[in-house]
Amino acid sequence: MRIAMIGTGYVGLVSGACLSDFGHEVVCIDKDAGKIDALKKGVMPIWEPGLEALVSANVERGRLSFTTDLGEGVEGAEAIFIAVGTPARRGDGHADLTYVFDAVRELARVMKAPAVVVTKSTVPVGTGDRITELLQQEGAPAGTSVASNPEFLREGAAIRDFKIPDRIVVGAEDDKAREVLREIYRPLFLNQAPILFTGRRTAELTKYAANAFLAVKISFINEIANLCEAVDADVQDVARGIGLDNRIGPKFLHPGPGYGGSCFPKDTLALLQTANEAGVEQRIVDTVVKVNDDRKGSMANRVAKALGGSVDGKRIALLGLAFKQNTDDMRDAPSIPLVKGLLEQGASVTAFDPVAVENARKIMPDAEFAGDPYDAAQDADALVVVTEWDEFRALDLGRFAKVMRGKVVVDLRNVYNRADAEEAGLEYVGIGRGRVDRGASRLKLVRNG
Ligand code: NAD
Repeated sequence: MRIAMIGTGYVGLVSGACLSDFGHEVVCIDKDAGKIDALKKGVMPIWEPGLEALVSANVERGRLSFTTDLGEGVEGAEAIFIAVGTPARRGDGHADLTYVFDAVRELARVMKAPAVVVTKSTVPVGTGDRITELLQQEGAPAGTSVASNPEFLREGAAIRDFKIPDRIVVGAEDDKAREVLREIYRPLFLNQAPILFTGRRTAELTKYAANAFLAVKISFINEIANLCEAVDADVQDVARGIGLDNRIGPKFLHPGPGYGGSCFPKDTLALLQTANEAGVEQRIVDTVVKVNDDRKGSMANRVAKALGGSVDGKRIALLGLAFKQNTDDMRDAPSIPLVKGLLEQGASVTAFDPVAVENARKIMPDAEFAGDPYDAAQDADALVVVTEWDEFRALDLGRFAKVMRGKVVVDLRNVYNRADAEEAGLEYVGIGRGRVDRGASRLKLVRNG
């Protein structure tokens, strides 16, 4: 099937590349000529594991192409996906639908034949209805229908998530849309990926409910971590102890500096706006947003506390800047308020991140950046682990102790444990690990009999 993808960012590019890998003929369209030029030369505009190989393989086979020309891109397409950004609108937190509606207007003017327009962007309930009206107003061909197909992929594991999804949600109001989307995802039926057909408004809301629930889980374990610190318990063990309960599950129970990224912060705010407009209270999500904002804003003070109350005049080394591992995405990353707070309190900051430095430079111009974790730690008073990159796990703690001026390690991701850090001559502060470190988990699990 011929498919057009409007918006070639994290979601559009990954979705387009994966759909072409299933055998569909996909054209990815973007307004950003620099992005499209780079892609035509085989240069990826984002850092996502496995993406470059997937894109180049499908370009070579002639199934994947890139253009800035919308008319050319959508010609002959049976399905036209919209995967443009829906950032939080300044001031009220409502999802900013400017990019979506602009794309729909432009699309209506260039469409020559009816197609199924599929919203992959995360959009508030009722947006599909507004897109339908807009397409009609702007003269899209009769017979064009609108479906919602929210995307649940995670940056850093995006290709795997797209190809082996937990579920596919399709919100449609007509048989043609359901038929086209069933055909698009048919290759995944072989993996028995559940496909859930719902009404369009239900699909739109499902995406927000999923992200809000995950944000609740993260904030819940962060608050339990605070309690662990006060009562001398270990949150790692608590998380395992509750996560092994099938009703709870182990995922999203990792305490840390608060959630960030391009989705949870804006989607929780947008859900609250929808609820507000509908006159329905969402007290849990409302509280979670506040809990998370407070948490992100308090991390600089946590570092100051570990250094005896002040970071004034101190050199702080940061390991990791991206909002999570395996991505270069800095949108709403917890490192942003942390660096801001440290600089405001008189510290100097030198940071290392395997891939996010280029994006970080634009956001935190007063920080310094190192090309290596040990260079970042040179003469530092404290080392702060901000992102849980796997490659940080096996770093030489003894070498940090040698190159640093001070000895404090503030581990905001619990990547290390106190015993190893102390053995290396460092003073360790984790998240929710009580007053006494227990090193490896005391919960002895017997596997395989
Ligand atoms: P992004 O900013 O990386 O990409 C959006 C792209 O759309 C940009 O390249 C931009 O130039 C392009 N664009 C904007 N208007 C256009 C137009 N009229 N015509 C052509 N191109 C246009 O955004 P993203 O992270 O891919 O997110 C896209 C949507 O997917 C958002 O609604 C987001 O909430 C949702 N989503 C994102 C993720 C994620 O992990 N990033 C996961 C699930 C859902």
